[in-house]
Amino acid sequence: MTDELRKNFIEQIIDKDLETGKCTPPIHTRFPPEPNGYIHIGHAKSICLNYGLAVKYNGRFNLRFDDTNPTKEDQEYVDSIKNDVDWLGANYKENLFFASDYFQQMYDYAIQLIKKGLAYVDSQSAEQISENRGKAIKVDGKTITPAGTDSSYRNRSIDENIELFEKMKNGEFKDGEHVLRAKIDMAHPNLNLRDPIMYRISHEKHHNTGNDWCIYPMYDWAHGIEDSLEGITHSICTLEFANHRPLYDWFLDALEINHPQQIEFAKLNITYTVLSKRNLLTMVEEGIVNGWDDPRLPTIMGLRRRGFSAESIRNFCSRIGVAKTESTVDIQLLEHCLREDLNKTSNRILGVIEPLKVIIENYPEDMDVDWLDGINNPEDESAGSRKIPFTRELYIEKSDFMEEPPKKFFRLAPGREVRLRYAFFITCNEVVKDGNGEIVELRCSYDPASRGGNSPDGRKVKGTLHWVSATHSIKSEIRIYNRLFTAKIPGKETGNWKDDLNPESLKILKNCYIEPFIKKAKHSERYQLERIGYFCVDPDSTNECPILNQTVTLKDSWKKKNSSPSTNKEKQKKRNRDNAKS
Ligand code: ATP
Ligand code: MG
Repeated sequence: MTDELRKNFIEQIIDKDLETGKCTPPIHTRFPPEPNGYIHIGHAKSICLNYGLAVKYNGRFNLRFDDTNPTKEDQEYVDSIKNDVDWLGANYKENLFFASDYFQQMYDYAIQLIKKGLAYVDSQSAEQISENRGKAIKVDGKTITPAGTDSSYRNRSIDENIELFEKMKNGEFKDGEHVLRAKIDMAHPNLNLRDPIMYRISHEKHHNTGNDWCIYPMYDWAHGIEDSLEGITHSICTLEFANHRPLYDWFLDALEINHPQQIEFAKLNITYTVLSKRNLLTMVEEGIVNGWDDPRLPTIMGLRRRGFSAESIRNFCSRIGVAKTESTVDIQLLEHCLREDLNKTSNRILGVIEPLKVIIENYPEDMDVDWLDGINNPEDESAGSRKIPFTRELYIEKSDFMEEPPKKFFRLAPGREVRLRYAFFITCNEVVKDGNGEIVELRCSYDPASRGGNSPDGRKVKGTLHWVSATHSIKSEIRIYNRLFTAKIPGKETGNWKDDLNPESLKILKNCYIEPFIKKAKHSERYQLERIGYFCVDPDSTNECPILNQTVTLKDSWKKKNSSPSTNKEKQKKRNRDNAKS
């Protein structure tokens, strides 16, 4: 495929704009979060898209806070969003902006519109405004929008409008007493153009401008001006703004200022996940999760605490591409991108999450610890190796032993020999049980000649198990996270996403043992516990009690489903299938 064909639809628009001279380089994009919550992986898609375009076209990228609503916004959100954008790798340091810095300019522009007879102060109540705007109704299966009703204040004189608007600005009215509206068309088929509100009164303190202002611009009025003032060339937003575009254009045309182009793309949805900030806030406020950085949440903070790398999120965003129609991405693709990166970058360690004691009976009781070599990362030679202590008493995973193993169980069983990773071959001689018949200990013997896990005489074993020393490992806590929802599309069947919450989304295991190396691990470091999964050191972790969050298991269902056939037989089968189709 040529590079041209591989370009997404936004790149094709940009190419054309550059070719026809509609836009002169550099192209300029922006990410415009409202600081009213923490950003999530949907926002990451927007960041990667906008920043990625700026990099690709040697253009510019702004981080701009769309902070026009003091009732919901907070400095705390500004700080965290900056941190998250930075972590994702989008460089905005020279290009950080706040919509609130343009309040004076926006006000001056509003006065211009009033003077042109294109805006007026309305004194109807919010309910009256909404009622008189009208709404879409269905008649014979068709949606129609009967004309709205003009406000009785619509024909106020320019002078009266200016006087009232100045008084609104000077704090002479209470919240809700008046609004400023654009004078467009109360019969317009697009409801957004039925005299939209430009300003409302709010006496709330603003995180940036304090009490300087008590009138605040509405999104549609503010956004185009922000884009225009910053010289944005391509204002990329999600599909729900498509029917706001005529208004975006109307305001910029009316002001006769630099006119960026709004382009809409489909927002990201992921299976088993809820993304809207409002619902995430509900989960935090109702204690469904433990805060905004709960590792089960799709917030950037949550994903980070869970152990996601920025690289894996960027890869995911680039693989899903951009489209013009809504779809839902399989969460397994996100997990696949994560594994792909963690496999390359994380060191391996040994740990046992559900321990079963093993005594090596023929290991001399007075013998000291035997320090064995473990490879840190088979994917990265430069990661080197470390020493792992082998002792007479060990732990293996409970699930790696069966007293009466079925046919395909190749792990430990009575009389059977297996390999302990990096260590020795051991054979199970005796099973010790407590009064309830629970297995509490295995008595085994080892073959000293198999040190390093190598077969001494060519004899083969089918299973290789992970293990730790019972006396020289560190007792740790492991938090296992499962999907937060049991339904593919939460709320789709039940009507309420809360009814699809998974009651088993968090399991805390407090009796886990990890090799001593874990003591040196720092917060946020990522490891693979061999044969179990990828883990990340939680910020609550201490030297005395390390805490690991399970990032993702090892089993890659997405890869399995989507991998290309590997054997010749499979390849032939696929060829036959393809031939049959064509
Ligand atoms: P939410 O819908 O989660 O409440 P929002 O759209 O209100 O988020 P904003 O801070 O207004 O959040 O969004 C900043 C930018 O991120 C906007 O350009 C918006 O279109 C984009 N964005 C938000 N959610 C997604 C998503 N799921 N996929 C892609 N882009 C998104
Ligand atoms: Mg929003």
